[in-house]
Amino acid sequence: MKRAFSLFLALAMLFSLAACSQQEPETSPTGSQSQAASYTGTARGYGGDISVTIEVTDGVITACTIDAPDETPDIGGAQIDHFQTAIVENQGQVDTVSGATGTSNGVIAALQDAMRQAGLLDTAEYKMTPGTYTGQSHGFSCIDFVTVDVTVDESSIVSLSLQDNFVDDQDSYENRYLCTGAFEELEPEILELQSIGVDAVTGATGSSNGIKNAIRSALEQAFAASGYSEDEIDTAINAMFMTPSSKTDEVVELSCDVVVVGAGAAGTVASLAALDSGASVLNIEKTFRWGGQSMMTGGPKAYSPDTTEEQAQAILDTYEATIANHRHGEEDSQWNDPDYVSAHADEYTPVNAEAYKAVVPASGLGLQKIMEYGMAFTKSMMGLMLEGGMEGMTEGGPMVLPTTPEEPDLLTADSVYTFGTDGEGTSVSYYQAEKYFDTVYDNYIANGGQALLSTTVTNLTYDDNGNITGVDAQGDDGTTYHVTAKAVVLATGGYGGNDELMDEWAGGGDDWLYYGWQGNDGDGIVMAMDAGAAPYNLDAYPMSHQRMGEQFITAFEVQTTDDGTQWSPNDLTVILACNPDGVFVENDGTSFRPEDYDAYNPMGGFSGAMGTYSIGSSYYVVYSADQLQAYAESGLTSNAMGFQNVGLGIPTGMALGDWVDQAMEQAVSQGFAWKVSSLSEGDALLGFEDGTLAAAYGTSTSDANADGSEYYYIMKCCGLAISSCGGVEVNENMQAVREDGTAIENLFVAGNDGFGNIMATGAEYPIGGDAGMWVFGSGYIAGEQAAALAAG
Ligand SMILES: Cc1cc2nc3c(=O)[nH]c(=O)nc-3n(C[C@H](O)[C@H](O)[C@H](O)COP(=O)(O)OP(=O)(O)OC[C@H]3O[C@@H](n4cnc5c(N)ncnc54)[C@H](O)[C@@H]3O)c2cc1C
Repeated sequence: MKRAFSLFLALAMLFSLAACSQQEPETSPTGSQSQAASYTGTARGYGGDISVTIEVTDGVITACTIDAPDETPDIGGAQIDHFQTAIVENQGQVDTVSGATGTSNGVIAALQDAMRQAGLLDTAEYKMTPGTYTGQSHGFSCIDFVTVDVTVDESSIVSLSLQDNFVDDQDSYENRYLCTGAFEELEPEILELQSIGVDAVTGATGSSNGIKNAIRSALEQAFAASGYSEDEIDTAINAMFMTPSSKTDEVVELSCDVVVVGAGAAGTVASLAALDSGASVLNIEKTFRWGGQSMMTGGPKAYSPDTTEEQAQAILDTYEATIANHRHGEEDSQWNDPDYVSAHADEYTPVNAEAYKAVVPASGLGLQKIMEYGMAFTKSMMGLMLEGGMEGMTEGGPMVLPTTPEEPDLLTADSVYTFGTDGEGTSVSYYQAEKYFDTVYDNYIANGGQALLSTTVTNLTYDDNGNITGVDAQGDDGTTYHVTAKAVVLATGGYGGNDELMDEWAGGGDDWLYYGWQGNDGDGIVMAMDAGAAPYNLDAYPMSHQRMGEQFITAFEVQTTDDGTQWSPNDLTVILACNPDGVFVENDGTSFRPEDYDAYNPMGGFSGAMGTYSIGSSYYVVYSADQLQAYAESGLTSNAMGFQNVGLGIPTGMALGDWVDQAMEQAVSQGFAWKVSSLSEGDALLGFEDGTLAAAYGTSTSDANADGSEYYYIMKCCGLAISSCGGVEVNENMQAVREDGTAIENLFVAGNDGFGNIMATGAEYPIGGDAGMWVFGSGYIAGEQAAALAAG
């Protein structure tokens, strides 16, 4: 929601300047009677620090300059000019820009900092009505609200309490663990500083902003109870509760044998393996706890440590056959033709056979290692799915059935595991995985491992000969760390969270909506390539099991049917992106049917959500007013809800009234859908030849979609990417490899950062679970080998 930010210009308040100023004002060189001074405020934006400098003369802002080097150019960066102008024109009263809220909030917080220094922010004695108020806001999830109880006295926040009322475990896992973790981090800082202007928790920006917005909403109620107007309330909150976080400039020197960057499953296993091999180990994790996106993993796979060379080859052969089976469509199928491949060998990157085969048995060792330190696994999700018709997927493949996951000595070559356990061993419960990662962390520390949390590694360091000597890192509290290490393991989880790199690399540059760990922004891959590592299938298709509208919508509250079933209108843009009643066209206007793509989708049997992506990641779907009328009266004919549980699902056959229109209008307002009065108008809008959409209607399965409807909605859709799959090349020791094939001796790469090694040109990630295998195995090898190298 757009929130007006009003500031009260207090011309008579310049007296407070000396007390508030953090820097010497620069007086105007003109020497005129009016004193011009400049003030700079700094706050965290979406990508990094944002500085706002205002020139103030006689209490009036006469100029504004914003320095925001780390904002995404096409998103927040594009808004900088707008803000520079608007701040002067509106004397500091500016709104957040929807779609660029991270940058907007940073600009506004930095502006407030500058205005506070200039004495332009009113600190008058506004009084709240003491009591406990409940505030709500959307966090990371599009379904749930973050709800916070805020107790206040007249002028301060006394206590905060996060309500645990997530819709249910199965559908709100991202909120539960991100939100509770972020709350634990934010609560003491907010209370101490009496500020909701504090930085978002790294890796949990969505939840953090949800928490801060919920508190703001409660504060608004507390001021409203005292009778203030909306403008006065904004002024009071901005003046009283928006101080930015304070930072230290401390510099700390550290040294160890092995430094591991990132603490998802790969970095965790690498740290444990290196520690148990006798090395002194420092793990550095950007977020406030271990786990990364590995906490969200539904069914990681691991093979027995006893897998023989011959069995590993057989597993590889099956894997490659599955990959080949995934290539389809005229162009991609060329890569299944050995003659074509040999004629285009320089364009083709196969699965890295040596690395893959080394990782197969090591995956079991990695799994055992993390279990030794306290990780638990529940019975496989795959096992549950078998009853739902997964037979086709298991024929001839290594993924047959889970064995007995609670007993690691019974590992077989066919095992599939899920992080976390509900104690029963029968259901998917990855929502609880974070507490097991906490246990693993505690045991690692108890065994002598060292760790830095909330600290981001920024770069590798080198000696004069170009050899890697360690890393530099930056703590969220401002501390700079210089770490000297004999070996470095990079395990930062790939580049899925970096919009620019996803645009540049993923699947050849198509559009994707990323739904994985936000902090995985390619740091490890970029650092490895800076050190000379060669890319390996860097532009592989991201991991994606379903498609949806190009953005989430979050505008609507959860609805409850008469029989108590909960559903969310926000799911409509997910379901309608794959619903067989729609009319589908690729970006070039070629029509297709979603069910054609399900045929190639290993998950298709149950997801119905167009899991494959060989048509490119983005496309359009069209619904007519007639079709919407049918939904209004008779409901959806198919609930193509996705594999990844992004929503609650909507019962089929339930009359939807005007909910679909409302959802579409919301998509229109967010800029990824359009309402047109004819198909020709749609053709013109999308740049198609006239008649393209009408021809696509001829392929539709639904008569209600006939041309000549009163209006049409066109929605842009794309793949929901949960992880990037491209990475840098490694050898069987997980050492990074240069273009010339030589290894970078003391640089190791594990997990998603090296995921491209199990991809191949023209094919997407074939089977859920192999990522887990790669993560456990590559982490184990990297940790052990790094320790061996450090021992000399
Ligand atoms: C919803 C979802 C479902 C999934 N389901 C499955 C499944 O069923 N089966 C399967 O095999 N795979 C699945 N995956 C994929 C699997 O989770 C990943 O492949 C795996 O977790 C990658 O592990 P990792 O250790 O490489 O990365 P992560 O677990 O993401 O860990 C990377 C860590 O590095 C940290 N980091 C990043 N940059 C820095 C830096 N500069 N400094 C310090 N720390 C940094 C991050 O904060 C993070 O904690 C799923 C993924 C998602 C999102």
